[in-house]
Order: sequence, then C-alpha cells, then structure tokens
Amino acid sequence: MLIDAHVHLDKYGGLLDQALQEIETERIFTVATAMDVPSYLELQIIAQRSDLVLPSFGIHPRRAAEYVDRLSEIGRHIETSPAIGEIGLDFHWVKDPATYPAQRKVLEYFIAAAREQNKFVNLHTKAGEKDILDLLESYDIQRAIIHWYSGPMDILRAMIDYGCYFTIGVEVLYSNYIKEIARTIPDHLLLTETDNPGALRWLKKNDEIGMPTAIKQVVDALACLREVSRIELEGLIQANFARLIAHDPSLQKVRRSLFS
Ligand SMILES: [Zn+2]
Repeated sequence: MLIDAHVHLDKYGGLLDQALQEIETERIFTVATAMDVPSYLELQIIAQRSDLVLPSFGIHPRRAAEYVDRLSEIGRHIETSPAIGEIGLDFHWVKDPATYPAQRKVLEYFIAAAREQNKFVNLHTKAGEKDILDLLESYDIQRAIIHWYSGPMDILRAMIDYGCYFTIGVEVLYSNYIKEIARTIPDHLLLTETDNPGALRWLKKNDEIGMPTAIKQVVDALACLREVSRIELEGLIQANFARLIAHDPSLQKVRRSLFS
C-alpha cells in the first residue's frame, strides 16, 4: 500500500471527490493534516468517507498567532484527534517576528499534549529545525514525522540519530539538495508525502493542482535514488509507517487495514 503521510485534503474543494476516488483506487493510506480548527473539523467529516484517511489536528505555524490565546479550545480538539499535525515552527516563510513567540507557545502546547496522550506528531520545521529537535528531546517525543525537511545537514543527522521519521515529497523530483537529504535518511526512518494539493503549485509557481497519485512519482524517484525496485520501496515505507503506529491503541484498526 502507498503511504501519503502529509496531505491537506480539506483544500481540494471541487476536486475532493476525485481525490478520494484516487485514494481508494490506488490504495493510498493518507494522513490528512489540519492547518487550524475549521480545517480539522472538515477533515473529520472527510475521513468518514474513507477508511484510508486519518484526520490529524494541528495548528500550522502560520496560524499560531490567531490561536495563542485559545489553548483550551485547542486542547479539546487534540483529545479527539488520533494524531497531531501539522504543527511546528516557521522562521523563514513567516516574515513577521512578532508571531514567533506565539509559534513557540502553541507548538509547545501541542508537544506537551502529544507526550501526555502518546500521539505521533507531524512537524513543519522551516528554519526552526534545531529548536524543534531540542523540544522533541526535552519532552521525550519518540514518534515524530519531520515533513519536507530542507534544513542543514548537521541537524538532519542529529534528528536521524534521535530517531525522527522523515517524509520526502514531490520536491525530490526537482531538487538536488532534497535528493541528497533523501539519500541520507536511513531505510527505517523513510516515509513519503505529497503535501498536496498545493505542493506542485508552490514548487513550480503555476496553478497545477497536485492530486493524490503524485505519491507514485515520489515512490518512483526514491526507488531510483536508492537503487531498489518500486515494489521494495513501497513495502519499506509501508513497514515504516506500520512500525510508527504499532503500539498506538487508537490506531490498531488503521494498522490492520494497512495489511489487509
Ligand atoms: Zn503541509
């Protein structure tokens, strides 16, 4: 089974039916990450339409400033969510430094809850890589997915040593630096994502809507880079995701569906 461990399914609008159809036809297990509260509420409804969709609550660092005074509301939604994300820090694309303390506060709230409720986290780390690793270590978070890593190689290696998982996405088709990152990640920590529908549009600066089947191109590119067959690579990613959720009591049904 294909694994897309970071997707914004609520952003498909009129193409949602087609996206869900592709997920079912191609058997793509999908972690549907939220950007904020309305996004999560929509993902909960979408997830009722497919057993292959896992809704995940998070507040994206871009939205953190709007939620910093609403932590108890956030807490209520975390309790209902089987996983956590998209959360993180962004000190690169988010230009206003006045939002940075709010980003840290919201992120730490989620990390503390992840620790308490033993849920895996899905992290955006742009220019906050070291801070995030420090936070994972201080809260002893063992199940973290670092999404679309593009930071320095020394922090990448430290995150690998710590045991973070990494989702490689569509940028591996275009960037030599991402290819180098993809080659550095050891077999047992490698996962795949699309970050669609927006990833291709963002990368290519056009209006291309990325559909779920883009995950197949990511798998092909990684198989080629690592000199294994597509089937082997697909099996490796599936086994890694199954290990990530192996002892998660709320995800046993999901785990069974991965192997059905
Ligand atoms: Zn994302």
